[in-house]
Amino acid sequence: MDTSAKVAIIGAGLTGLTTAFYLKKAGIRFCVFEKEKRVGGVIQTVSEDGFTYEKGPNSGVISFPETVELLEELASHCSLEIANQLAKKRLVWKGKKWHELPSGLWGGISTPLFSWYDKFRILGEPFRSKGTNPNERLDQLVLRRLGKSFLDYAVDPFVLGIYAGDPSWLVPRFALPKLYNLEQKYGSFIGGSIKKAKEPKSERDKKANRDVFSIKGGLSNLINALQTEIGTENIRFNCDELTVSKETNGTYSVKNGSEDLGTFSKVVSTIGGHAVPSVFPFLAEEKAEKITRMKYAKVVQFSVGFRQWKGIPVNAFGGLVPWKEQRGLLGVLYLSTSFTGRAPEGGALFSVFMGGLRKPEIYDMPENELVEILAREFSAMMGLEHFNPDLLKIHRYAHAIPQYGPESEEKLEAIAVLENEHAGLILAGNVRNGIGMSDRIKQGKEIAENIRITI
Ligand SMILES: Cc1cc2nc3c(=O)[nH]c(=O)nc-3n(C[C@H](O)[C@H](O)[C@H](O)COP(=O)(O)OP(=O)(O)OC[C@H]3O[C@@H](n4cnc5c(N)ncnc54)[C@H](O)[C@@H]3O)c2cc1C
Repeated sequence: MDTSAKVAIIGAGLTGLTTAFYLKKAGIRFCVFEKEKRVGGVIQTVSEDGFTYEKGPNSGVISFPETVELLEELASHCSLEIANQLAKKRLVWKGKKWHELPSGLWGGISTPLFSWYDKFRILGEPFRSKGTNPNERLDQLVLRRLGKSFLDYAVDPFVLGIYAGDPSWLVPRFALPKLYNLEQKYGSFIGGSIKKAKEPKSERDKKANRDVFSIKGGLSNLINALQTEIGTENIRFNCDELTVSKETNGTYSVKNGSEDLGTFSKVVSTIGGHAVPSVFPFLAEEKAEKITRMKYAKVVQFSVGFRQWKGIPVNAFGGLVPWKEQRGLLGVLYLSTSFTGRAPEGGALFSVFMGGLRKPEIYDMPENELVEILAREFSAMMGLEHFNPDLLKIHRYAHAIPQYGPESEEKLEAIAVLENEHAGLILAGNVRNGIGMSDRIKQGKEIAENIRITI
């Protein structure tokens, strides 16, 4: 192995830091270049006045063994926290109140979320024929297999919770590959889930499950752990004019403004798709455009804390608000119910979401108007007479969540062609391979492993 080879990693979010962590373990020299003066990207925990809130993601799902493995390796610096069992309960708003999203047969029959027509129709789901259009949109897939009320009151809120997205835009093959594969591989969501659960799993695969996780004290502790292991000396901060150019000998030169930051044999990009052309000006415009064309949901997230909670009981993970209900919020996460130490005893901490793909205008709204909507909607939905939180913070994201829509196929083809044309260039991050934190960890580890075996 040539350990003198150098890798440039662009972006010190979870993807870039995970890649760096595993490169370091493999003894491969690298440097991380970050635009901001801190690491973590959208992950940022703040502790203030007895509350510990998240500015970005609040929790992840242990969907891949790589997440568990990373946390095992970082165990001396940070501890995994699995959400309270109450977090298994998910709420959906319909009419004038929250309803529990059913998980069992009886709940499925008795819930007012779905129509009787669809409840009977679902009995035929295992016998419906498989879809043939690989670029079918999510709403079409769900209408075909499950019915309108399942689309409106199960899939739409689920998609809001993950993508802040729109089922009529997302393409399941790219956005929800596990769901897509259930139909393609087993012919049915219901039959496929049952068969899949019975399939033997390797010891490694058993590490993955549907548990919701955070890190004790907040997600920034994972980022701090990664930074400690990577070594701050291997991270270059404040690179806000970063460009990468390709030299005639096939290496890549990294500059910040006019400052030369070195030459590297490999470059891993973990930045958003919209930022790729400015950092990599040598990429053919018509191919880079296929990456920038991907839409992002704009999201406004509020951290709302109460020292004494006087609203409805908060004994769930939180609630999502289907688009059909036409309310001002996308959803409310009961952060202090799921994780310990997030609010003072007797108090409560919430993350509340607005905006999303179907309401981008929310992102530009003045603060007073946002707070007005929040006060009205949160009070009505959470049973408060007066909206007087002890903590109220607003976090705005112009490029919160990439939407894997109908452009995905061409985008992935363009990435493959560009990587092929420019040996050593890896265009990664959440432009591909999933948007969740576990997806990011899995991708970062795989990139490092591929570099290790090709160097
Ligand atoms: C509001 C919000 C809520 C979310 N909620 C959840 C959740 O509950 N569960 C979940 O699993 N996931 C959630 N996600 C998604 C998840 O947080 C992200 O997919 C993941 O953290 C992204 O990590 P990343 O490293 O790929 O990207 P980022 O965190 O975006 O990091 C990219 C890094 O690149 C840097 N950068 C950008 N441009 C340049 C440049 N030109 N030069 C140098 N550096 C640059 C950025 O400053 C940043 O540090 C949420 C995301 C947001 C925004």
